[in-house]
Amino acid sequence: MTYAEFHRRSVEEPDAFWAEQARLIDWQQAPQSICDNSRPPFTRWFAGGTTNLCHNAVDRHLAARGDQPALISVSTETGVEKAYSFRELHAEVQHTAAMLQALGVRQGDRVLLYMPMVAEAVFTMLACARIGAIHSVVFGGFASVSLASRIEDAQPRVIVSADAGSRGGKVLAYKPLLDEAIRLSSHKPQAVLLADRGLAPMERVAGRDHDWAALRQAHLDTEVACVWLDATATSYTIYTSGTTGKPKGVQRDVGGYAVALAASMEHIFQGEAGATFFCASDIGWVVGHSYIVYGPLIAGMATILYEGLPVRPDAGIWWSLVEKYKVRTMFTAPTAVRVLKKQDPAFLKKHDLSSLKALFLAGEPLDEPTARWISEALGVPIIDNYWQTESGWPILTIANGVEKKASKFGSPGVPMAGYKVKILHESTGQELVEPGQKGVVVIEGPTPPGFMQTVWRDDERFVKTYWQSIPGRMVYNTFDWGIRDADGYYYILGRTDDVINVAGHRLGTREIEESISSHANVAEVAVVGVADALKGQVAMAFVVARDAAAVADEAGRLRLEGEIMKLVDSQLGALARPARVRFVSLLPKTRSGKLLRRAIQAVCEGRDAGDLTTIEDPAALRQVLDSLVG
Ligand code: ATP
Ligand code: MG
Repeated sequence: MTYAEFHRRSVEEPDAFWAEQARLIDWQQAPQSICDNSRPPFTRWFAGGTTNLCHNAVDRHLAARGDQPALISVSTETGVEKAYSFRELHAEVQHTAAMLQALGVRQGDRVLLYMPMVAEAVFTMLACARIGAIHSVVFGGFASVSLASRIEDAQPRVIVSADAGSRGGKVLAYKPLLDEAIRLSSHKPQAVLLADRGLAPMERVAGRDHDWAALRQAHLDTEVACVWLDATATSYTIYTSGTTGKPKGVQRDVGGYAVALAASMEHIFQGEAGATFFCASDIGWVVGHSYIVYGPLIAGMATILYEGLPVRPDAGIWWSLVEKYKVRTMFTAPTAVRVLKKQDPAFLKKHDLSSLKALFLAGEPLDEPTARWISEALGVPIIDNYWQTESGWPILTIANGVEKKASKFGSPGVPMAGYKVKILHESTGQELVEPGQKGVVVIEGPTPPGFMQTVWRDDERFVKTYWQSIPGRMVYNTFDWGIRDADGYYYILGRTDDVINVAGHRLGTREIEESISSHANVAEVAVVGVADALKGQVAMAFVVARDAAAVADEAGRLRLEGEIMKLVDSQLGALARPARVRFVSLLPKTRSGKLLRRAIQAVCEGRDAGDLTTIEDPAALRQVLDSLVG
C-alpha cells in the first residue's frame, strides 16, 4: 500500500481502518464500536471492547518468547545491569500487583510513581495496568513543590518511590523530597512503597511506609490475573513538560492507546519481535511511557531501560549498548545528540553498530547540522518525529513501515494514521491550503486512537484550552506554528508563543535558530522576541559556542556576533537579524531538554521568570541575565 492510500483510508474510513489495526492486539471481548465521535471533542475508541495493556505487553508473549529478554535494565550510575525475560517480567509484575493490592489499591485508584529509572518502576507501571489502577508517573528529581501539586491533582492511594536517584555520579535523595511533598499536599496517600537501592539513608514513617523487598518476599506466590478493562477506561495520567506554562494533566485510555502503539511499532518504528529497542528517554515523559515501556513490549521486543548520562563513563556508552544488545531501533531527543556532538566522534567508530536500522528523534526541533552529523556518523536513517504528550505517539513522521519515503532535513514528515493535520490562520481560523503558508498547526477531530481523552478531572479545561482557541473552529490546537510544502511535508517553526513580530512581520524563532545554528562555531542557540519600543519586538539570540575560547574576550564575542548577524542577513533577511547575540555556556531548559524560551524572554524584559519548577539548571538563567548586563 502507498502511504497516501494508507493515510486516506485512516481518516476517510476510520471504522474499517482502525478495526483492522485493532487486530494487532489481543482483546478479551471485541469492540462493539470503533470510532464513537458522538460527543466531540471527546472521541471514544473501541467502546465495548475489553482488553489489558499488561496482557498485551507481557502475558501474550509468554507462549512464543517467554525466555527471551523483555526488560534490560542498565544503570551506569550504580553498575546494575540485569535482563528480565518475558517470563521473569511476568512474575515480577504479578508480585508487584499483589503488593499494590495488599496496600489497598483497587481498580480505578491512582498510584503515583516518583522513581528513578529502575526496573521496579516498570514493574509498577505494568502492575497498575494489570489491575486497572491508574498510574501517574512524576519525573524523578522534581522538587517537592512540583511533586506536591501532582499528588494533589492525582490523589493517589499509594505512592511508589525509592531512596534516591543518581545523575552523573551525584546521588539525589528522593525520600526527603517526597516526605516534604506529602507534607505540602492536602491529599495524603494511604501507603508509600519504597525501593531501597542503598544509595541514601531513609527515615520511614511507621504505618505508612513499606519496604519493597520485604513486601515482595511476602507475595512471591500470589498470582494476579489481568483485569479485563473497557477500552475507554483510563490507563494513566501524565503531565506535559511545562515549557509554555503550567503543565497539563493528560489522561489516556486503555484500548485506543494499545492499538495506536501497536500500529506505530509496525508502521513507523518497524519493530520486530525478538529484537531490541533502545529508547533513551525517561519514564517520567510520554516518550518513555510509549517507547520504553508499552510500545516495544506490545511488539514483543526487548526494551532497554537506561539510567545515566550519554557521556558517562564516556561518550561511547550508548553505542556499546547497541553493540552488546544488538539494538535494532533507537530513539532519543535532539538535545542528547547535541551533547554527543560536542564529544570526540571517534566514540561512534569504536563499536559494531550493524544491528541498528534507524534512529528516531523527537521532542524538539531537529536542526539540520545535528541531523547531518548523526546521520553521517551512524549511516542509518535519522527519523525526526513530531508529537506531544497529548498525542501519545507521533503525529508527523515518515511511515517507512508502510512505504519507504525520503526524509527532508528540517521536516519531521507527513501526518500519521488518523491525523487530519491542517494549517490555519491564527486569528481568522481560515484554512491555509497553499504550500508554504505559515499558520497554526491544528488537528481536526475525531482524534486518532491513543490521543488524550481529556485533561484529568477537568473536561472544561480540555475543551477550552485545546479546542476553542481558534475563532469559529472546533479543532485541536497544537500551539505550534508551521507550514506544509508542495509535497505535503510539514515544518514546525516553533511555538505559537514564540512567534516574533518585528515591525509588523511575523517570524518564527525556529527559523532564526536554524539559520544561526548553521554557523560552524554554534553548538546551541535560543532566540526569543523581546519588546522594543520602536519595532514592537526584536530578536535576541543566546548562543553556546562550540569553541568557548573564541568568545572568551570582548573582541572574540563581537566578531562572532557580527558573523552570526551577517549569516542571518544573508539567509533570512535583515528583518530577522537578531538585535543582539549573547554568549552563554548553557541554555535554560526543562528537565525534558526543551528550551525555556518564555523564561529567557521574561528575563530579557525584566519580568519575573514565572514557574521554574521544571527547569533543569537555574544557573543557566542566571547566565542569560549576566550576559545581558555584560
Ligand atoms: P507544555 O505543553 O507544558 O508547554 P511541552 O509542549 O514542551 O510543554 P511536550 O508535550 O513534552 O510538552 O512537548 C511537545 C512539544 O514539543 C510540541 O508541541 C513541539 O513544540 C515540540 N516538539 C516535539 N517534537 C518535535 C519535533 N520533532 N520537531 C519540532 N518540535 C517538536
Ligand atoms: Mg505543549
